[in-house]
Amino acid sequence: MRRQAEGAAETMKVVKQENITLDSSFAQEIAKLSGENVFLCYQCRKCASGCPSRMFMDSTPTELMRYAQLGMVDEAMKKNTIWYCVSCQTCSTRCPQDIDIAHVIDTMRIIGQQKKIKAENNKLPLFNRLWMTMIKYMGRAYEAGLVAALNVFSGKPTKDMVLGMKMMKKGKLKLWPSFRKPFATMKMFSRAKKLKK
Ligand code: SF4
Ligand code: SF4
Repeated sequence: MRRQAEGAAETMKVVKQENITLDSSFAQEIAKLSGENVFLCYQCRKCASGCPSRMFMDSTPTELMRYAQLGMVDEAMKKNTIWYCVSCQTCSTRCPQDIDIAHVIDTMRIIGQQKKIKAENNKLPLFNRLWMTMIKYMGRAYEAGLVAALNVFSGKPTKDMVLGMKMMKKGKLKLWPSFRKPFATMKMFSRAKKLKK
């Protein structure tokens, strides 16, 4: 046992503190776009424990904040976490440091799209884009259209077709879309675009 421990000590690489560098450019970019300071996070996990999407995520919102602090861009952006966030704001309201985590995550999605960082599951960004387009032009969700478009763009046009028809028969899925003040949402989107400039 002692010999094993000695062997481990011989092979263990000691990293001197002065050799560790922290890349804060990712955190700075988030701060510039969102006004949120991820360095305020002290990893209490209150955000993760209240997150309704947590069970589907590769990492928790708490871990996401740590990735942002350490400049671990790939870990933050390529996993599914930012795409499974439904912007419910639960984490933001629970944070004792008053960090708007939902806004940070939304900002990460924007940075990811601007820098063309591909998520490991590329269906998730596609879903997000289709969803936003639908909201922009219809003012509300159109589930049947969303699923159909997602299937077509991801190369599986007939996926879940039988299930969808069964749901329509039972009145759980509508065939035709309904609109809710589409001009108002279109205006909202163009105002947001102008503000961004
Ligand atoms: S805003 Fe996103 S990360 Fe925060 S609790 Fe809701 S789903 Fe989870
Ligand atoms: S609730 Fe706030 S302080 Fe706590 S882990 Fe989440 S972001 Fe960090």
